[in-house]
Amino acid sequence: MIQTGDAAIYEPQDAYERLSSPEVITIDGDMELSLRPKELKDYIGQEKVKENLAVYIEAARRRGEPLDHVLLYGPPGLGKTTLSGIIAHEMGVNLRVTSGPAIEKPGDLAALLTNLGRGDVLFVDEIHRLSRAVEEILYPAMEDRVLDIMIGKGPSARSIRVDLQPFTLVGATTRAGQLTPPLRDRFGIVQRLELYTPEQLCDIIRRSAMILDIPCEADGAMELAKRSRGTPRIANRLLRRVRDFADVMGKGVIDEQTTKLALERLEIDALGLDKLDRRMLDMMIRGYHGGPVGLETLASAIGEEAVTLEDVCEPYLMQLGMLARTPRGRCATGLAYAHLGYPVQEEQIRPKQFSLTDMLEES
Ligand code: ADP
Repeated sequence: MIQTGDAAIYEPQDAYERLSSPEVITIDGDMELSLRPKELKDYIGQEKVKENLAVYIEAARRRGEPLDHVLLYGPPGLGKTTLSGIIAHEMGVNLRVTSGPAIEKPGDLAALLTNLGRGDVLFVDEIHRLSRAVEEILYPAMEDRVLDIMIGKGPSARSIRVDLQPFTLVGATTRAGQLTPPLRDRFGIVQRLELYTPEQLCDIIRRSAMILDIPCEADGAMELAKRSRGTPRIANRLLRRVRDFADVMGKGVIDEQTTKLALERLEIDALGLDKLDRRMLDMMIRGYHGGPVGLETLASAIGEEAVTLEDVCEPYLMQLGMLARTPRGRCATGLAYAHLGYPVQEEQIRPKQFSLTDMLEES
């Protein structure tokens, strides 16, 4: 059973409604629930993560113990929430979903923890955004399954200890580096999710099309997959938008031609770059001679939040080899120049050399 309370799906305050944004947009909520695979065997890709989790789950089940705490990290929309649901399903326990910013006070966390049944899974999205006070309650809960609660104030204050049911915490974060070391160390299982290949995304799209009863041809699915930034959430979202174009302007079937037409209208290019990606690269090339340029400088130059560029644009641009992170800042590569139609300079082909001073400055 999946319990999703008010805090079930965290919506960032500044949700930028880009079609190719991997963040949850409210309208996707119901659709995502129906598209989420429930069993490990239906979860496409992330082979290493799946193989490892299958072993850990089987071992815990044989011993009749809850699974050790799991930390999943990687860019948004890659299937972290889905995996937590699968873990709960495979372990035969309930799942409770919340997020770091939604747990404001230690009392909120205490209420969540005391309501968990034996072996239940508590999924905390954006766990790097937990407050210090809440984190401190979490340490003994994860380690010794106890809650230390302070009652009263001043000289009459006293601490009481409450035993908790054994449970599994599944934490998800886009930024493992921002987790405090004591919290990171309390996760027995740490898995990184990677961007998906077009072939894997193609399988995900065909599965979603079947569930949503959308006629979709193999070449249409592949074209969509290539433009989905390696992210299942974006693939599923684009699938529905392309269906609209297929219904109104085509024969109701998602084929290569309709997909190309629809994505052109949505300003998503052949490699899946959208307006923001292109603006970012364009500013680096025209405004900063291809870099190096600092992330904050770049973000203010194009009027966007640095975290958006870092979490959303960069992983995909780096995977495509269009952007490099160097000790002195971000650089656009020759591939970026070529993709945006700028002449490729010789220094874009040769990797830039950095001195020891540059490295030290950066660290
Ligand atoms: P995250 O928690 O990492 O932001 P989600 O778990 O919410 O991502 O996944 C977003 C959407 O992508 C869900 O609707 C889910 O159905 C789909 N999805 C993610 N990973 C997979 C996968 N490996 N196989 C099939 N669908 C997936």
